[in-house]
Amino acid sequence: MNTLTNTITVKSPADGSVIGEVPISSPQEIDETIARSERAFQDWKQTSIPERVSILRNLRRIILSERQAMIDLVALEQGKPKTEALIVEISPVLETLAFLIHDAPKILAPRRSSPKGPYLRGRSSTLYFHPYGIWTVISPWNYPINTPIVQLCAILFAGNTAILKPSPLTPLCGQWLVDAMHRAGFPKDVVQVVQGGATEGELLLSDPRVRSVLVTGSVATGRRVMEVAAQTNKKVVLELGGKDPAIVLSDADLERSAKGVVWAGMMNAGQTCAAIERVYVEQAVYEPFTQLLKKEIEALRVGNPLTGDPDMGPVVAPFQIEKIDAHVQDSVAKGARLLCGGKRLTELGELYYAPTLLTDVNHDMQIMREETFGPVLAVQAVQSEEEAILKANDSAYGLTASIWTRSRERAQRMAPRLECGAVTVNSHMTSFSDGCGCWGGFKDTGIGRTHGEFGLYELVQTQHVQENYVAKPEIWWYPYSERVRQITDDLYALIAEQRLGKRLALMKRFSAQTGYLNRFMTSHKTMPGLLRYLK
Ligand code: NAD
Repeated sequence: MNTLTNTITVKSPADGSVIGEVPISSPQEIDETIARSERAFQDWKQTSIPERVSILRNLRRIILSERQAMIDLVALEQGKPKTEALIVEISPVLETLAFLIHDAPKILAPRRSSPKGPYLRGRSSTLYFHPYGIWTVISPWNYPINTPIVQLCAILFAGNTAILKPSPLTPLCGQWLVDAMHRAGFPKDVVQVVQGGATEGELLLSDPRVRSVLVTGSVATGRRVMEVAAQTNKKVVLELGGKDPAIVLSDADLERSAKGVVWAGMMNAGQTCAAIERVYVEQAVYEPFTQLLKKEIEALRVGNPLTGDPDMGPVVAPFQIEKIDAHVQDSVAKGARLLCGGKRLTELGELYYAPTLLTDVNHDMQIMREETFGPVLAVQAVQSEEEAILKANDSAYGLTASIWTRSRERAQRMAPRLECGAVTVNSHMTSFSDGCGCWGGFKDTGIGRTHGEFGLYELVQTQHVQENYVAKPEIWWYPYSERVRQITDDLYALIAEQRLGKRLALMKRFSAQTGYLNRFMTSHKTMPGLLRYLK
C-alpha cells in the first residue's frame, strides 16, 4: 500500500510483476459508501425470498461460465495453481449457493413456537428473523474469492446489505467478485467494495451505521476488531487463525493417509487457516508413516502457476516466507529432524519455499504453537489415543482437526473430545466446502459461525412476537391478593413435588379451584399441558 499516492500496487507473487494499481478508498468515499448502503437496505430488506434466490441462481451461472477468468485472476494475484483454484475457489461456493437456494428459505421463514408451561398456555408465539442492516465483511487474501463470496451471499440472502473490504494483497479478486454479484442482479448499493488496509477497515468498523462485522483474518486482527466494534455495540463474527492437528492412528490406511495429510498441509502452499500443521502419529507406525510423507512431499512439483500447472506455487508475500523460515529454523535449532525441504527455492523466484517435513518436534517449538501458514508438516510421535487428544488440544487455536483410522469406533470416541469447530475422519478441510455444515472455531480461533443453519442465524436478529386474544385480564396483573399468591404458590409446589401421592393431592386441590385455574391458565387444555410440563 502506498499512502503517498493513496494506491495499492498489486504485485503477482508468481514473479513479482506489477499487475494493477487500485485506489485506496478515502474517508469521504467510505462515508458515502455507508450512506448508500444504509439507503439500499430499506428496499433490499423488502425483497422477496424468491427474488433473492433468483439472483443467487444467476450468480451460480456467472461463476461457472466465467470460471476460467476467475482462476486466472486468482493464480495471478494470489499464486494458487490453476487446477487447485478451479477446485477450491469454486466448489465451496457452489455448495453454499445450493444451501441458500434450497434450504435457507425454510430456515429463515417465520417459525411458530408454543410455551410449555401453564402460565402462558393459550397464546401463540412466532419467531421472525430480521436482517441487522449493514454488514462489513473484512477478508484475507488466502481464498480471495471463496471466503468473501460465501459470506456475502448468506448476508444478502438474509436481507442485509454488505460492504466488502478485501485484503490489500488481493483487491482485484475482491473487485471481481463484487462486479460478478452486480451482474447477477444484486443492486449496486446492496453490495459494495471499499479498498484498503487496517485504516480503512477501522473506518468501517467505527461507524455506528454499520451494525455488524464478519472478519476473517489473524487472531491479532480479530482482537483489534472487537475493540473497535465494541465502541458502537456491533454484532461481531470472527473467523480467525488455526494450527490444525491430524491424528494418525496405527490402524490407518497409511498410504492413503499420507496422501491426504500432505495435500491438506501443502495445498495453497500451506496458506490455509485449516491446513494441517501438526501431525501426531501413533508410535507403532511413526517411522513408516513419516517415510511415506517424505515420499509424497518430495514428489510435489513447485513452480510458477502462470507458466505451468504445478502442484504448489509461491507464498503470497515476503512476510510469509520470513515467518515460515523462522519457524523451521527454530525447530531445527531445538532438535527437530529436517527430512526434506527447509529452504527457499530462489531459482524459482523470491517467494517460493520448498515443501518441508520436520519430525521429532515438540511443543516447545514455535512450529507447534504458532500459526506457520506455510508448506511445512511437523510430525510428533504419540504413545496412545489419550496422548494424541491431549497434544491436539494443547493449543490456543481450535479450528479443525482430523483423525485417520479404519476404526469407526475409535474415531467416534475421539472426535467429540477434540477442542475445535470441525473434525473430519480420513480427510481434512472438507467441512469448509459443505454449505449445509457449520464453520468456525473454538478458543482463540473465533466467535460465531458461518455456513449452514447456524451460520445463517448469526446474520439475523430474532424477534419474538407473542399473541394473546383472551379477553380476561392476566391473573398476575394488579391488584395482588392472597388468593393469587396461594394459586401461584400451589403451582410452584406442584412443579417442585416429586412424590406421586403428594402431587395427586395438590392436583386435586387445583381442580377444586377450577374457577381460578381457568382464569389463571387461560385455556381449557390446562391439565394435559400441566401434566406434560411436569414430566
Ligand atoms: P490479517 O488479519 O492480516 O488481515 C485480514 C483482513 O483484516 C485484511 O483485509 C486486513 O486488511 C484487515 N485488517 C487488519 N487489521 C485490521 C483492523 N485493525 N481493522 C479492520 N481490518 C483490519 O490476515 P491475512 O494475513 O489477510 O489472512 C491470514 C489469516 O487469516 C490467517 O491467520 C488465517 O488463519 C486466517 N484465516 C482464517 C479463516 C477462517 O475461516 N477461520 C479463513 C481464512 C484465513
